[in-house]
Amino acid sequence: MDGFRGTRRKFLAWGNSLLAAGGLASHPLRAADSHKMAEGEDYYDKLGVTKIINAAGTYTALTASTMPPSVQAAVARAAKHPVRLTELQKAAGEYIARLLHCEAALVTAGAASALTLGTAACVTMGKRSAIRNIPNDVTGLKTEVVVQKAHRYDYDHALANCGIRFVEVETLRDYESAFNDRTVMAHFFNAADGGQISREDWIRVAHSHGVPCFNDAAADVPPISNLWKYTQMGFDLVTFSGGKGIRGPQNAGLLLGRKDLIAAAVPNNSPNSDSVGRGMKVAKEQIVGMVAALDWFVSQTDAGMEAEFRRRADRIAAHLKGLPTLESSVVIPEVAANAVPHLLLRYDQQRMKISPTAVAAELRKGTPSIELNPATGKKPMAGLPSDENTIVVGVWMLEPGEELTVARRLREILGKAATA
Ligand SMILES: *Cc1c(COP(=O)(O)O)cnc(C)c1O
Repeated sequence: MDGFRGTRRKFLAWGNSLLAAGGLASHPLRAADSHKMAEGEDYYDKLGVTKIINAAGTYTALTASTMPPSVQAAVARAAKHPVRLTELQKAAGEYIARLLHCEAALVTAGAASALTLGTAACVTMGKRSAIRNIPNDVTGLKTEVVVQKAHRYDYDHALANCGIRFVEVETLRDYESAFNDRTVMAHFFNAADGGQISREDWIRVAHSHGVPCFNDAAADVPPISNLWKYTQMGFDLVTFSGGKGIRGPQNAGLLLGRKDLIAAAVPNNSPNSDSVGRGMKVAKEQIVGMVAALDWFVSQTDAGMEAEFRRRADRIAAHLKGLPTLESSVVIPEVAANAVPHLLLRYDQQRMKISPTAVAAELRKGTPSIELNPATGKKPMAGLPSDENTIVVGVWMLEPGEELTVARRLREILGKAATA
């Protein structure tokens, strides 16, 4: 009874506040309340979480990207109605497959999820018992995944979740002799900056043994055409992250490829409870957001995006003109990932007595808080020719106008450190 009375009291209070918001909207406080209801309260402020300027890039720990306004609006609209989840998954997949010129597609909870679901597809191929039993009982299943030694990476775990084991190869000869009746998949890391075996050879040899090839191209747009390049090249499965360059929801991604393999991935995915992917649920808002982000992304042009990123980099460089020994250059990384213009600022620390990593720390501490690219002050990484004297500004995830804030703060910090 107490519980009921409590609920009733809350209900009345809620009713009263609705009446107040509706009836007394001209009162300034009440108007603010109703605005909060319509626009949504700023929960970053409420939680005391710092909003940052992202001069780094699409880093997962920095929430990767922001959705363009059209995508945000589509997500908010999708939140207003329940639908049948499997109907939405199927319709979204078919739409994406048409848009990206591949046989089939599945919206996943990110590229890492797509790696798990794609591997699960190859391992289980529709076998109900296998779907239930992986990863801890793989009796009678093929479980060897062939990979170039230089393509072992931080996402191995996403595949290993399916109970597979990796078989490493280095030369084309190794590769040709790695196949046996336990081989289930050949895995390729598209942005690797090592490995002797080309994509074409990788596919050709695997297919000669009837083994499917997976290409992880998670961070590898732009160019936009990469979204269909690798499936058309012959990879049986390809993944892209939804929340990186495509600027969809951060917890969305794409599994693209062969119809039978995508169909085999589905029963391993949410909402199927006893499956490896049940914890990889993608909500209706994010499925819609992923589709809307692709609509937005394919409406862009590579040249238009590159010109905009160069304009931002040039604007920052122009603002820093005259700082002692400072030289700027605009560089596109030499690997397939994040292949967009980055601004590199190199200087002599005898003339500006602050290290690039100390500049990054100052920017992080300041207001607004700014994050520089993690290659700042480091040895070359991810295809960026950085060093201990170099600041790296990732301009592509900046919001319009933020490049000027970054430029002003850099000028302030470096200017103060300049010796007379
Ligand atoms: C980012 C990334 C992933 C993971 O992508 P999510 O969408 O965050 O799950 C997987 N592989 C590579 C190569 C990546 O760069």
